[in-house]
Amino acid sequence: MSDDYGDLRDLYQELILDHCRHPSNFRAMPDATRSVEGDNPLCGDHLRLYVRLEGERITDISFEGSGCAISVASASLLTERVKGKTVAAAEALFHKVHRLLTMEEEAADDAELGELAALAGGRQFPMRGKCAPLSWHALWAALQDEAPEQVSTE
Ligand code: ZN
Repeated sequence: MSDDYGDLRDLYQELILDHCRHPSNFRAMPDATRSVEGDNPLCGDHLRLYVRLEGERITDISFEGSGCAISVASASLLTERVKGKTVAAAEALFHKVHRLLTMEEEAADDAELGELAALAGGRQFPMRGKCAPLSWHALWAALQDEAPEQVSTE
């Protein structure tokens, strides 16, 4: 394993800790059009995602709750990346992140993923494998016409 890879991993770790300490869009949204609770009993992550949909566009998105550093950082990055996107664009990003978190390393080279590649670090910890995807599954659920009120990784 090269030193470069180690540096990148440190950078990713720093990014995750930073988002965990100062999460973006960390607030309740009383006028949300959709809200989905996400539960990861394996780790104890418990987040609620709020989405405001106007037509086909996500005009606002936020979350609240508590969880480990990876789950909170993932939700924070998600809100930054998805705010202002259309439903179709958000769903396309969901698929990319899902691939990144479940499969091949090469997906991390995708320029659109950018900082989201840091989330793939969670794959190294089997117990943490469901932490990063949690908020993304809540997002997917929230974008469906018959949005469920709750999703669980179990
Ligand atoms: Zn977790």
